[in-house]
Amino acid sequence: MYADLKGQVAVITGGSSGIGAAIVERLAQEHMKVVINYHTDKTQAQALAQKIQQAQGQALVVQGDVSQEPDVDNLLVQTLRRFGQLDLWVNNAGVEDYAPTHQMTLKQWQRVIDINLNGLFLGSMVAVNQYLKQGNPGRIINVSSVHEKIPWPGFAHYAVSKGGGQMFTKTIALEYAKQQIRVNAIAPGAIDTPINKTKFTDPQQLAETLELIPMQRVGHPQEVAAAAAWLASQESSYMTGATIFIDGGMTLYPQFAEGKG
Ligand code: NAD
Repeated sequence: MYADLKGQVAVITGGSSGIGAAIVERLAQEHMKVVINYHTDKTQAQALAQKIQQAQGQALVVQGDVSQEPDVDNLLVQTLRRFGQLDLWVNNAGVEDYAPTHQMTLKQWQRVIDINLNGLFLGSMVAVNQYLKQGNPGRIINVSSVHEKIPWPGFAHYAVSKGGGQMFTKTIALEYAKQQIRVNAIAPGAIDTPINKTKFTDPQQLAETLELIPMQRVGHPQEVAAAAAWLASQESSYMTGATIFIDGGMTLYPQFAEGKG
């Protein structure tokens, strides 16, 4: 538990499912006031808010598409109207969509870039503006991926969005370090969430994924949320512009295990 988080306000985009929902729950357990942004699944977002309220927490649900500037502006407006301040913005919303590059349409490319990368810019832009107005050491956490580092054929748009997101994280961390605004990223490996539902319920696809993970298991969303809570807290007070990999060793070149190579 991180006592300094108590009473602070966090916005989590795409917060109704998977990693986003786990971050929402963890930050609520840390007694933060949480704003759950969802895109389409209102029922799930409301159920999560209700669960938090039943545990004496405070949660607000706000619909919005992170790739649309008016929606992101509205997310901040609703947050301030309800809670009066902002301390943490988690850019978690993201999509992936398999398409070999020679068959990928511009529309497919743009959708992934719009949500994963432009959404990152829009969320960070409104959060930084608010922090500058408040004059508080606000934080931004970007949910990246091991594919900010590992190329991913069939998912060029996704890998580019996460690679670009890494440079965006570092650049704005540098840009606002003087104001004590900290910007960091979390790069998950293979985590058991709806994005991987088809892959992990097919035994062959799951086995193929496990071959890439030295720890030989997929991760839980709560294991990612734990890093988010730490990055949000004062315990990480001197860290900015960094990416924390939560991947069971996926980025350690597993093919070199056992001294191969
Ligand atoms: P998920 O599908 O459960 O979560 C993605 C969330 O983003 C959903 O709630 C979805 O509704 C929301 N979303 C999609 N488009 C949106 C939009 N335009 N506006 C607002 N919200 C939108 O999957 P997840 O695994 O929890 O993914 C969360 C993040 O973690 C993503 O950024 C993803 O790239 C990243 N990630 C996941 C894994 C993994 O293995 N699960 C690995 C690496 C990175």
